[in-house]
Amino acid sequence: MRTTVYAARRILTLNPMQPEATHVAVRDGRILAVGDLARMQAWGDFDLDERFADKVLLPGFVEGHCHLKEGGMWTMPYLGWFDRRDPQGQVWPGLRDMQAVVERLRQIDAQMQAEGQDPQAPIIAWGFDPIYFGGERMTVRHLDQASATRPIVIAHANGHLMNVNTPMLAKAGITAETEIEGVMRFENGEPNGELHEPAAMFPVVRAVGNAGLLAPMDDAGMDGFAAICRLQGVTTATDLVNQLSEADLATLERACGRDDYSVRILPAFKAFHGTHGAREGAEHVRALMARNTDRLRFGLVKMMLDGSIQGFSARLRWPGYVNGAPNGIWVTAPAQYETDFEVYHRAGLQVHTHTNGDEASEAAIDAIGRVLCRAPRPDHRHVLQHGQMIDAPLFRRMAALGLGANLFANHLWYWGDQHLEMTMGPDRAERLDACASALAAGVPLAIHSDAPVTPLAPLFTAWCAVNRVTPKGRVLGAAERLTVMQALHAITLGAAWTLRLDHEIGSIECGKRADFAVLEQHPLEVAPEALKDIPVWGTVLSGRVFPPRG
Ligand SMILES: [Zn+2]
Repeated sequence: MRTTVYAARRILTLNPMQPEATHVAVRDGRILAVGDLARMQAWGDFDLDERFADKVLLPGFVEGHCHLKEGGMWTMPYLGWFDRRDPQGQVWPGLRDMQAVVERLRQIDAQMQAEGQDPQAPIIAWGFDPIYFGGERMTVRHLDQASATRPIVIAHANGHLMNVNTPMLAKAGITAETEIEGVMRFENGEPNGELHEPAAMFPVVRAVGNAGLLAPMDDAGMDGFAAICRLQGVTTATDLVNQLSEADLATLERACGRDDYSVRILPAFKAFHGTHGAREGAEHVRALMARNTDRLRFGLVKMMLDGSIQGFSARLRWPGYVNGAPNGIWVTAPAQYETDFEVYHRAGLQVHTHTNGDEASEAAIDAIGRVLCRAPRPDHRHVLQHGQMIDAPLFRRMAALGLGANLFANHLWYWGDQHLEMTMGPDRAERLDACASALAAGVPLAIHSDAPVTPLAPLFTAWCAVNRVTPKGRVLGAAERLTVMQALHAITLGAAWTLRLDHEIGSIECGKRADFAVLEQHPLEVAPEALKDIPVWGTVLSGRVFPPRG
């Protein structure tokens, strides 16, 4: 077996026993030795590879909460407020008011007409969020200006809401008589085109044939996702909700079965609003675990309690939303959640639960506490995902129960001002994604992007947790800021813990997978405000080198 030794300008290992090094030896896709050139002699002959001699190596970044759709969204028009870069590097400019959104859609409709496309072919777009427009909500009155004949579906950035126009309401059969929670209405009771959460969005999804946002991943999307990961230094990523149907499995196994697929994928089984009951679902996931490979790992389960804070569909404790909006939606009723959770837990699986508002986090902690009394299981590693409003007392309860937290640090930048002004108000915005409180309570911590909700970029996510600044220049809860090293831990070993892979990835040390993020600068040599701007050269996955455009 040949051994390759990589020389680097600096290696930041995240292993406290050997925090820094200049050389790392790799054999059989694993790390054999870490240290200086002299130490590399211990294992005999090697090939010295100096291509990283002026680069900085870190453990490959681990994105514990994102979605493969990050790579598959770009066949649909992007309607977000922020500029955004696609996998090819093209920047889509942000749309800064409602009229700009309508105008973009009108142009798309005109182009589809010019191309002679079916006048009933829907426009499906994504990335929209009206919260940036000062409280004005979008209705059919806006969208009908773009087209009063062609169905239009606009997925919000948060993935929990959509807006549709009048032709789409008709096609989906949603009327004043429709009795589904989450169908928003004008004062006269007519639906206004805004739909909250899966039950209300389902008639639209069904009518457009599962196209667009909720369509299964395809091969091109898998490649787009891997390309984004290479650009951002990510070597392990979740797909934190996947139906794991036969078609989904074929796509995953086709991509991950290729030696040149550059990222390790952990899809999480969708255990809510699904086609399976909990018992059947648990059996399905357990059976799939026999098919695990290095690049494709089954075993995660995703459950969901509430909605989105900026979509006003999250469940908040007293005093609720500062703008007076009614409390949000239980995507899964807490009693149902507890019953289903117990089935997956007893099957030995690891459950990741979406809880955005603090009432939802508390409901999850209450339920999991009862389940653990009935069915104790050491080292279960259940994780609360997002947990954006969790306070210190809830973190202490989580620590006592052995729960991990994967906090949505990117919100500090993308919605921090809106949370302060419009959703939770200034007091609770100080503890938005309270990373330091989680660590102080002893809760294992990861941070995430929820891409495509926000862009996949762990160094940016770390920057959010370190600086906690908003676009309007505020610092939210200075006491909750992480150090750079704590933030780097959260995007490597911390996230690896939440995926039960901390024995295998997350640090550069003997025995682990040779997964590296190859950077142009050292994170401790730049100012904390510049963390997000460090250029990423590419990645190494299980010993295979992936240049960014390779
Ligand atoms: Zn998500």
